[in-house]
Amino acid sequence: MENRIEKIKKQLSSQSYKLTPQREATVRVLLEHEEDHLSAEDVYLLVKEKAPEIGLATVYRTLELLSELKVVDKINFGDGVSRYDLRKEGAEHFHHHLVCVECGSVKEIEEDLLGDVEAIVQSRWSFEVKDHRLTFHGVCEQCQTITSKVNS
Ligand SMILES: [Zn+2]
Ligand SMILES: [Zn+2]
Ligand SMILES: [Zn+2]
Repeated sequence: MENRIEKIKKQLSSQSYKLTPQREATVRVLLEHEEDHLSAEDVYLLVKEKAPEIGLATVYRTLELLSELKVVDKINFGDGVSRYDLRKEGAEHFHHHLVCVECGSVKEIEEDLLGDVEAIVQSRWSFEVKDHRLTFHGVCEQCQTITSKVNS
């Protein structure tokens, strides 16, 4: 974790931003909940446990800054809530998501499956792909098992 914090600190300072204690508290919460796809409110409530003086506006501005600097990616799973997701180390593009419509679980696919699609988009539409969002909505393995048990 300290390692990742150091790297994020460098990423910020290369853009002339400081990792202030409040920003650091926000980054720590994101690291501790890396799998969780937290909303700004979720992050705020967790940061508040570490830094009670912090306000929602500060957390919100920090999250916006981190997404501008590509430390986090912002995603919406169709429920109108923006969620914040730490960018995986070394990843050029945003990872993909599998969202279960039954239980709401979110699984990540870290491998970029869109290489061929990006090549088509670039050549056919002369569009330079910088990033993408790919979310599959469906039924997870666990919920499929439950459904087949009920039906048999
Ligand atoms: Zn890609
Ligand atoms: Zn499920
Ligand atoms: Zn994710």
